[in-house]
Amino acid sequence: MNSNNVDLGEALLDAIYDEVDHHLNPNNDECWNCGGDGVLYDCIDGSCFDAESGCELCSRPCPECRIYAAKRAKAVREEVIKSGDTDIAIAWLKQIGRWHDGLSRQMVQAELEKAADLAILAERGDA
Ligand SMILES: [Zn+2]
Ligand SMILES: [Zn+2]
Repeated sequence: MNSNNVDLGEALLDAIYDEVDHHLNPNNDECWNCGGDGVLYDCIDGSCFDAESGCELCSRPCPECRIYAAKRAKAVREEVIKSGDTDIAIAWLKQIGRWHDGLSRQMVQAELEKAADLAILAERGDA
């Protein structure tokens, strides 16, 4: 495989991520719930060693960040399908950890075409 294609796919995938982020979060705001840390602390004043900054034991993932991450992942998937570009799709599969040696370029292309067909059908169904 031509390594230039891989680089191009990655660059285009980056552009998709930027676009999706811009669409979902135009002002590039930090998460209102956790301030962008992705973690919340359920510390109790007085009983925690460091209730001010939060301790490891009391941390839990921020649910708002998880919702955002899920929305972002879905939007990126839709954009990748819409692009119909095999290089982008491969870069994306690698990025989300779904790429493996059993996959070939042809398989990705076939899946992409199938998914695009389904997307077109779904859009028609909505109309
Ligand atoms: Zn604590
Ligand atoms: Zn958050």
